[in-house]
Amino acid sequence: MKRGISSMLPSRLNRLLSVIAASVLAVAAMVAPARAAAFDPIGTEPVAPYALPADTALPQRGCTTTLADPKNAAGSIQAVQVIYAWHEGNGNNYEMYAERIARIVDRMDWLLDESTNYDQHINLSCRTGHATGTYSGYARALVVPEKIENGVIGGETDPFVIADDLAAAGYDSGNRRYLVFEDFNGTATAHCGPVCVATTDDWDSATMMHELIHLHDVDHAKVSEVPNSFSLNDVMISQYNDWQIDQEFNTYYDPSETSALFYTSSYPDTRKVNLASFPPFTTPVCCDVGYSNDALTAQERTIESDAPYGFPTGFTVTGGGWMQVTPPGADGQVSARYYDGRRSLTMNVQAHAEGLVSVTRRPAVTAGQRYKFFARLTTGTSGDVKLRMSWYNASNTLLSASDSAVHSLSSGWQEYSVSAIAPAGAATVRLSVVSPAGQTFAYVLDSLQLNHCNNGRTTDGCRLNG
Ligand SMILES: [Zn+2]
Repeated sequence: MKRGISSMLPSRLNRLLSVIAASVLAVAAMVAPARAAAFDPIGTEPVAPYALPADTALPQRGCTTTLADPKNAAGSIQAVQVIYAWHEGNGNNYEMYAERIARIVDRMDWLLDESTNYDQHINLSCRTGHATGTYSGYARALVVPEKIENGVIGGETDPFVIADDLAAAGYDSGNRRYLVFEDFNGTATAHCGPVCVATTDDWDSATMMHELIHLHDVDHAKVSEVPNSFSLNDVMISQYNDWQIDQEFNTYYDPSETSALFYTSSYPDTRKVNLASFPPFTTPVCCDVGYSNDALTAQERTIESDAPYGFPTGFTVTGGGWMQVTPPGADGQVSARYYDGRRSLTMNVQAHAEGLVSVTRRPAVTAGQRYKFFARLTTGTSGDVKLRMSWYNASNTLLSASDSAVHSLSSGWQEYSVSAIAPAGAATVRLSVVSPAGQTFAYVLDSLQLNHCNNGRTTDGCRLNG
C-alpha cells in the first residue's frame, strides 16, 4: 500500500523505517483517486533544501546506452532499467504514465547531480524503436512496460513477486538495477534476489532515489557520532521532504574521494559504503555548484585512519593541550564506537595557554568568497571552545582570523560552525578549534567540514546545520 507498513515483515523493517516515520502523515495525505482507475500512484516531489526545477527547466538525462532487447543486457555497461509495472487490478496505463515516469527519473538524476559540487549521473538504459528526439519518444525508449502476472488484485503485491516476475520475463541481468514504478498497491522498498529491484507505488523522485540508494547497501541516514540518531535532512530518512544526499560527506556519500568508505549504520553494524562508487552511476567529476561541497579529505573530516590512543594524522596542536585518537570508553562519549570509522580526536586541554587543534593542511580559498567551517564537539565534563578560520596569503603570512562565539560544550554531540568571507589577499585557511586559556578539561572532536558557500540557493550559500 502507499507508504504503508501493515504487511511488512520484521526483517524488512530496518530498511523501511523512513516509511514508518512518514506513515502517520501519509494516512492524512491519502485522497480518492482522481481518475477512473482504482489506484493513484502519483506522489509529491520533495522541496528541501530548495525546490526542484519545473518540467520546462528540468535537464533531460537521456539514454546512456540503448539496447535492441532490454532483456539482453549481457556485455552492456552497468545501468538502470526503468519498468512500468501493472496488473489486471488497475490495468495497463502505460501510455498515460510513460512521460510522467521519465520526468521522475530525470528528477532523480538532477538531485544526484545537484546534491554536491560534483557532476555525477545515473546511467540509463533505453531500448531501440523509439525516436529519442522528442520527449515522448525518449520516455517510451526509457520506460518499459511489464505485466506482473502474479500481482495481487485487491491487496498488496510483495516486492519479491515483482523481482520473481522480472526474472521470469527475462529481466535478469547483473548489469541492471530495475527501477519499478508500481501502478497498483505495492511497497516502497529495495530488494535483491533473484534480481535487484527498487520499487515504489508512491511515485516521486526522492522516494524512488531513496530505494535505489538502498541497493548499494546504504542504510537510513544517521547523524554522525550521535548514537542511533537519524539525520532529519537527507533523502535517506525524510524523502517526502528532502532530496539531498549526505550533505556532510561522511555517512554514505563522498564524491570527492571515491575510495573513502563510511560506516552506514549504528554500532555494531560494520557495513562500510560510498555511494559515489555505485556501479550504475557515472564517475564523479569536479566541480560545479551544488547544494553541498567540502574542501577537506575524508581523514580530516573523520579522523578515521589511526587506532585509539594513536596520533591523529592530519592534525596539529599548539598551545595548552595535547591530543590523541579517542581511547575506548563509555558509548555516549566515544565516537570510536559509532560512525566516521568510529574514531574521533580527544583534546586534553591544559590551563597555561590558549589551546588549538588545527587541520594541518590549509585548504585553498578564494578572496571575497564565503566559507563555513563545521565541527561536532562534546565533553564528558564541561568547558568552553570556539571555532576559528585563520586566513593566510600566498606567502604564508597570517592576515586575520574569524572566530565563532564561545560555546559551552555539553555531553551530547552538537554541531557548531563559523562562517566568514575570505579577506582580500587570502589564499588558504587554517581551521582550528580553540580552547581559551585557564581551563583544564577534555573534549572530543569529529565530523569536520569546510564548505565553499557558493550554491546561491540558501541564505548564506552554505548547507544548513543539522
Ligand atoms: Zn528506506
